[in-house]
Amino acid sequence: MKKKLILLFLLIYIALTSSGVDGEIGMSDYSLKNKRYLAHKHKIYKESILNRAIKDEVHMKMDIIENFPYLYSLPALPIIPPGGRVIKIGLYQNLKEVYISCNGNYSIYSSSGKIIIDENQVLSIKIPMGIIPSREIKKSGEIIKIKPQKMGNILNLIIKNTDYSYRVISFRGNFNIFLNSRGFLTVINELSLNEYLAGVVPNEMPSSFPLEALKAQSIVARTYTLTHLGKHKEEGFDLCSTVHCQVYGGLNTETITTNQAVRETTHKMVFYGDNLADTVYHSTCGGLTANVENVWQLPPVDYLKSVPTQDSYNTFQSEEDFKEFINNPVESFCQESRLFRWEKSYTREDLQNLLSESLPIILNYQAQLGDLIDISIERRSEDGRAQTLLIKGSLGEYRVKKDKIRWITSKGKINKDALPSTLFYIDKPEENIICFKGGGWGHGIGLCQFCAKGMALRGMNAEEIIEYFYPGCTLEVPDEKCEVKREKGNGRSEK
Ligand SMILES: [Zn+2]
Ligand SMILES: [Zn+2]
Repeated sequence: MKKKLILLFLLIYIALTSSGVDGEIGMSDYSLKNKRYLAHKHKIYKESILNRAIKDEVHMKMDIIENFPYLYSLPALPIIPPGGRVIKIGLYQNLKEVYISCNGNYSIYSSSGKIIIDENQVLSIKIPMGIIPSREIKKSGEIIKIKPQKMGNILNLIIKNTDYSYRVISFRGNFNIFLNSRGFLTVINELSLNEYLAGVVPNEMPSSFPLEALKAQSIVARTYTLTHLGKHKEEGFDLCSTVHCQVYGGLNTETITTNQAVRETTHKMVFYGDNLADTVYHSTCGGLTANVENVWQLPPVDYLKSVPTQDSYNTFQSEEDFKEFINNPVESFCQESRLFRWEKSYTREDLQNLLSESLPIILNYQAQLGDLIDISIERRSEDGRAQTLLIKGSLGEYRVKKDKIRWITSKGKINKDALPSTLFYIDKPEENIICFKGGGWGHGIGLCQFCAKGMALRGMNAEEIIEYFYPGCTLEVPDEKCEVKREKGNGRSEK
């Protein structure tokens, strides 16, 4: 029955209107006015019948719209040297429709052939009518490829907001679009490594930071990209565009200084011996970085070791030493960060409610807390990070470990309600108040971005900054063997 239903929607929804202008997008679903497209019409139809018989495919609905209200042209692109292989970035996976324009002509390649659209026209791609998103819909075999006809032309993605307005986001490179297994459109931006980094660096570090810090960021982001390629292989692309991989905002977010940093570091990467290093990074270390094995469930890595980033530093012999470190900090490279030191206070009742929601998600079972009796740090590692948090409730006793500790106040999710870091102690100033007092923001492993700023302001260059945070690593411009080395690179689950 399902198969029959899918077959029913196999039609390519192409029809012709005689002439005239369609103002409303919704009204012009079946208008096709491009002459070059007409030449392909017959072929397209014939092929779709063939496909129907052979493949179990669902075709997307394509349409060309003139006088789309959100057309505008952009200035020519600032040049970014290619700097490496082409990569695929997942921009969206939840769209029902998308509109595309270009400042210049652009080509569309689909199973139906190639068509050319000019800059006064907008391509609309929608999921076929009647397709209800479900897990059972297979990924369409068809990938629609969209390319600007001239190098340096910009493609614009036009997304409908919930209030029926539109937002336009501009990108270098090409788009690939297909129907994903959940029944939505996946939109992929395909571009060179440096073009991608130009849209990453300003989103991962403020563009107002000194150039050497931006250069260090460009180099670690480049290396991170290559060591994590294919992280989203199952979904059809290399990396996503969110904090899960690296935040990528396309052309709209590029700045002069960050582009300069990307350009001046072209091909530069971080190596440990013969292999690319796994250059994870974070916002603010708070005075010292973390050993990778103290944060994630991973074996130790030679170059992902704790390094102090402040004037004087002694190991924490006791909890009193640690409290002193938090409450009376000495000068540190990242002290300008607003989360260099932080405090989060909760009433016992509020924390109890948060824990009751967070624990089952973090521990992945029916963890029932009841009344909160006590919460304490059972074990702290030598780099100051909380290793085991002991939570005692009237209905049970629970232990949360390593970086997962941060999500106890955010219902198990990574969001603004989470504890900024695991570099904290618990204070109970009153019977009913529980206060987390800590330092730093992020997991604490590898390069600290605010330290990079502090170091650059004190005259250190990008190379010195990187070698400080990844001890034993070197900066290199690899030859073509890099591709082989990259394959050997180890993947991490988080940045
Ligand atoms: Zn991702
Ligand atoms: Zn730092």
